[in-house]
Amino acid sequence: MSHLMNTYARLPVAFTHGDGAWIHDEAGKRYLDALSGIAVSTLGHNHPRLVKAIAEQAGRVLHTSNVYRIPLQERLADRLAALSGMDEVFFSNSGCEANEAAIKLARFHGHRKGIELPTIIVMENAFHGRTLATLSATGNRKVQAGFEPLVSGFVRVPYKDIDAIRSVAEHNHNVVAVMLEMIQGEGGINIADDRFQRELREICDQRGWLLICDEVQCGVGRTGQWFGWQHAGVQPDVMTLAKGLGSGVPIGACLTAGLAKGLFGPGNHGSTFGGNPLACAAGLTTLEVIESDGLMANAEEVGAAIRKGFAEALAGVPGVVDIRGRGLMLGIELDRPCGVLVGKALEAGVLINVTAERVVRLLPPLIFSKDDAQALVSLLAPVVRDFLAQ
Ligand code: PMP
Repeated sequence: MSHLMNTYARLPVAFTHGDGAWIHDEAGKRYLDALSGIAVSTLGHNHPRLVKAIAEQAGRVLHTSNVYRIPLQERLADRLAALSGMDEVFFSNSGCEANEAAIKLARFHGHRKGIELPTIIVMENAFHGRTLATLSATGNRKVQAGFEPLVSGFVRVPYKDIDAIRSVAEHNHNVVAVMLEMIQGEGGINIADDRFQRELREICDQRGWLLICDEVQCGVGRTGQWFGWQHAGVQPDVMTLAKGLGSGVPIGACLTAGLAKGLFGPGNHGSTFGGNPLACAAGLTTLEVIESDGLMANAEEVGAAIRKGFAEALAGVPGVVDIRGRGLMLGIELDRPCGVLVGKALEAGVLINVTAERVVRLLPPLIFSKDDAQALVSLLAPVVRDFLAQ
């Protein structure tokens, strides 16, 4: 019996090494990684530049403390600010921690304005993490069940429903922020349209609310832009990152601009490991490689090839509802729960997962090639077809 706490329904496979988009298990079987650890391994496995950067940094200093200057943190913050137009960065170790910082910022912003019970508007089907505040912000009852009392100060609206937000604005004078994913990941690859994003920005401006974009899953080049909100050109006041930022090394970030800039001072927030030099070296290298190797253009091109490939391979197959996504953040929605496909795909040699019960989720590394895309379609489409034919 394992001494691991039983918190994951783990598949009975363990991986030993990988190369690019391919990964090998203990028995020597090779798999195409179309999940990258859920949007984590941006550069694929064993990327030589990332391996070198991590090894070099490990030979210098792993970490000291945030009570000293950490030049790599300053460099990564400068880089992220230049790419996003944001002003300040707080580094954490994960997505939920980045979102905790965002939630604290929103409350701080509210108290500055004299609002004693600051409230944040959040979305149905949102996912923001599993710490108490972030699971309270998450729009999935399964994530929350058994952990009540939830953290107060959240009010929920349907995703992309601007009228619902306007209605909350009229009745609730404690609102200080809106927090959302511009492309919902766990919620089933749902994309907020450009018009909704612009109208939301307008409401936030009119009311003095912070617009908080959780880019933990869709950020860092995955959708063909550095950040999901850049498709509509709507600048958030707070943005959170994690997952793909370190391409496998744990790092998160909470960035501020506009009304959120300058809210925190010394003593307001902190993290022992947040922004340690090893993680920052991984983050900087990830951003450098995305840029130098044109990985955002690649994400767009290869993502389009995957969508087209599945559209052709699954054309006319009853039970396929929609094939959608941006760049290399893709979903194939079926008309029935399809969790069993994860195991069937594994047998066929592909790593995928299923979210929102009915959506096959594909989050390949950004180095995925057109050949990888073709391999993905030929390995996975028959699995989906067979499942739907049952
Ligand atoms: N926000 C979003 C949009 C996510 O997809 C996730 C993880 N699935 C998180 C936050 C939480 O990130 P972490 O697991 O690193 O805490």
